Amino acid sequence: MPELPDLEVIRRYLAPRLTDVVIAEAEVRRPLIVRNLLGGKTAERLVGRRFLAAARRGKFLLLPLDQAATLAINPMLAGRIRYGEPLPRDRVRDALVLRLADGRELRYHDPADMGKVYLTADLAQIPTFSEQGPEANDPDLRLEAFRERLRRHPGEIKGILTNQTVVAGIGNAYADEILWRAQIYPFRKRSSLSHEEIGQVYGAMRETLAEAIAILEERMGDAIDVEIRDFLAVHGKPGQPCPRCGSAISEVARERRSTHFCRTCQPGLMAAR
Ligand SMILES: [Zn+2]
Repeated sequence: MPELPDLEVIRRYLAPRLTDVVIAEAEVRRPLIVRNLLGGKTAERLVGRRFLAAARRGKFLLLPLDQAATLAINPMLAGRIRYGEPLPRDRVRDALVLRLADGRELRYHDPADMGKVYLTADLAQIPTFSEQGPEANDPDLRLEAFRERLRRHPGEIKGILTNQTVVAGIGNAYADEILWRAQIYPFRKRSSLSHEEIGQVYGAMRETLAEAIAILEERMGDAIDVEIRDFLAVHGKPGQPCPRCGSAISEVARERRSTHFCRTCQPGLMAAR
């Protein structure tokens, strides 16, 4: 699932390629995923508009268009954004296909049907958008402000890091990575963390995100629809050796989310469910 580092690198890739390019054709293949808040027919609303930039807010990729509209993509669990030469044929879970005046195409694909693409004149109309906290990698989010934001949330630290109203952009994978780096048990209650431990979480959050952006920027290339996660330390690697101590990485599955961590480096008692 694309998180802040993935979407940031996709944004950097798309910005020079999409800016000033006009949408020549638009096909909405899965209307449940593509939410047109402008009214009218979605394809007609899109065709002829020009991309102005590529931006990001939390886990939303924002593609501002001319005539005061923005295409906002929130890929959620499994959505993928593809850019490049047109595919010879559509795939079953392609939700939106934009053919561009320069011969390229931009395509949103979602095997889980969980993401959303919004076309809107006002980002505040997008559910949860305005409730997002500061970007987790915002240079202006200093340690003291981070502590202050966490103070209102006494619960499990992993749940707080992935709460988009606290900080925006972190999901299941990068929360695991951050807590591994901070050497904090993911199910520790924030209220049990010391002043120093909150500082460790903050430092690990900044380092993990910056490092991931640098790695992805180097490795992603043109295949922006392929998620690169092999460089992560613990997430997606249960049973493999912890890169720090060599212990087997543990997995705890709750609802649909799996948490991966090292019981040696991140000790803690399993919290009651
Ligand atoms: Zn370890």
